Amino acid sequence: MPDVVVIGAGAVGAACAYYAARAGLDVVVVDRGPVAGGTTGAGEGNVLVSDKEPGPELDLALLSNGLWRDLAERDGFEFEPKGGLVVAESAGVLDALVGLAGKQGVEHVVVDPAGLADYEPYLTKDLAGGVFYPQDAQVQPMLAAARLIQRGAERYGQGTLMLRTGVTVTGFVRDGDRVAGVTTDRGDILAGAVVNAAGTWGGEVAALAGVHVPVLPRRGFILVTEPMREPPVRHKVYTAAYVTNVASDSEGLETSAVVEATASGPVLIGASRERVGFDRTTSIPVLERLARQAVELFPVLAGRRVIRTYCGFRPYCPDHLPVIGEDPRAPGLHHACGHEGAGIGLAPATGHLIAQTLTGARPDLDLRPFRPDRFEKERP
Ligand SMILES: Cc1cc2nc3c(=O)[nH]c(=O)nc-3n(C[C@H](O)[C@H](O)[C@H](O)COP(=O)(O)OP(=O)(O)OC[C@H]3O[C@@H](n4cnc5c(N)ncnc54)[C@H](O)[C@@H]3O)c2cc1C
Repeated sequence: MPDVVVIGAGAVGAACAYYAARAGLDVVVVDRGPVAGGTTGAGEGNVLVSDKEPGPELDLALLSNGLWRDLAERDGFEFEPKGGLVVAESAGVLDALVGLAGKQGVEHVVVDPAGLADYEPYLTKDLAGGVFYPQDAQVQPMLAAARLIQRGAERYGQGTLMLRTGVTVTGFVRDGDRVAGVTTDRGDILAGAVVNAAGTWGGEVAALAGVHVPVLPRRGFILVTEPMREPPVRHKVYTAAYVTNVASDSEGLETSAVVEATASGPVLIGASRERVGFDRTTSIPVLERLARQAVELFPVLAGRRVIRTYCGFRPYCPDHLPVIGEDPRAPGLHHACGHEGAGIGLAPATGHLIAQTLTGARPDLDLRPFRPDRFEKERP
């Protein structure tokens, strides 16, 4: 019998399993699909501090940023500590960006219009300046999830880590009030505790335990260009509108230019946000908007072909914070879901904190802002 069953082999579940095994626990990870077959396989992989308002999410992002660097050093992830450049189209927007950077209290450099070319030589000249965040980084999300599970199993676990794919969780085993395992389409798995790392489906999994955790899908499209030997984008580059979109509660379509190159040469172009359920229909108007905004930022991209597009569903919680910690309504059930557009960046901190709650250690961060029962009042 394992100490823990982790539901979900995305970046967050993989990180929970990795840190739990490192802490000496025996872990079984189950997923109905393959590793990274959920939103982790449909995102970009930015590890950002720059887009976070001061508060609990920024604290989580800073903890995670340090842990990503530690993991990259130990485990050889495809991790690029290249920094992020947020650009402003007008002086007013630049003032707001600089104001936010001051409040965040994280490392940053204010860049005047003439200085932008030192960071990004192909950037449009039509900008009022920007803010560079050296701590922003990028990781290949699918590889990261797979490697966390592999490394947890192979090298660093004082505990053991076993992966079972093609296993759908259908309910929970109870010992009185306590959650004591999962029921699946391949039989029951008894365990000392269960971690719900089912991402956008975290609300459905929570409902199987009779608890309300509102995680909703927020769709996003990405364009992938043909590979370039020397991509014209050096850092993660995005416009100030991205910060506003991330924080918005709107169900309607929002887009802003987010552009970055990947290690193998293609440039990724995002980002759109809309709440349309789990509708996977390709939206040409959205793709056109993303392409146009990227070309406005990097005119040189106009001559490059897009070779594919994809979409995914961010796990959105109404207050934009993830759900992390043991559920007082279902003792033994720990949630690690609802990270919206930041689940890759926030995965290591989430896994680390969950390992602390599983082992009874004092968490490095105050988990109250992330508590699972905080939506009880709004329960329909
Ligand atoms: C377009 C786009 C761009 C993004 N860009 C970034 C970015 O740059 N940086 C960033 O940090 N984040 C980004 N994100 C968000 C990020 O991808 C997610 O927050 C993250 O992948 C969530 O990971 P997860 O492990 O929680 O969920 P998932 O990766 O979705 O994993 C959940 C797993 O649970 C499994 N599961 C669900 N229900 C069950 C069940 N009943 N039984 C068994 N298994 C089950 C699923 O199969 C799935 O594999 C982006 C998202 C999108 C859509």
